[in-house]
Amino acid sequence: MAVERTLTILKPDCVRKELIGEVTRRIQEAGFKIVALKMTRLTKDTAGGFYAVHKERPFYNELCEFMSSGPCVPMILEKENAIEDFRTFIGATDPDEAEEGTIRADFADSVGENIIHGSDSVENGKKESNFFFAEQEVVANKA
Ligand code: ADP
Ligand code: MG
Repeated sequence: MAVERTLTILKPDCVRKELIGEVTRRIQEAGFKIVALKMTRLTKDTAGGFYAVHKERPFYNELCEFMSSGPCVPMILEKENAIEDFRTFIGATDPDEAEEGTIRADFADSVGENIIHGSDSVENGKKESNFFFAEQEVVANKA
């Protein structure tokens, strides 16, 4: 299986609930290697840019408000089959539908405030990584 990178965001609800440590520990325990990490705060506009693909959806405004409501923690993660495995690891978008033991099942309050993001393809993972990180902020892929 190919080594891939995925972009995750510990969303503002994750930061507010003081779950940065717990969620990051689980990410590492599941075998994802952190190759970039920062804390930042999106504006409503930059959140809208990140989620531009959803701009026609009824929840878009609410999503942009939420994603700009406090600091968040984007990370680039590396692992074999990272895209699919990370989506499985975080669980379904709606925590009521998420598998037991996943991040969203354990910590999310609602389909909107669902703790964590994961890229849905290698291509989108690259775009999303470039949205948050400059080249020099991504550690070299060395042992
Ligand atoms: P995912 O994050 O699982 O890839 P989507 O790409 O479909 O899910 O949606 C992006 C984000 O928009 C979700 O993680 C969630 O925060 C928000 N969202 C999705 N669907 C809804 C909804 N029906 N109501 C409110 N917010 C939603
Ligand atoms: Mg998505």
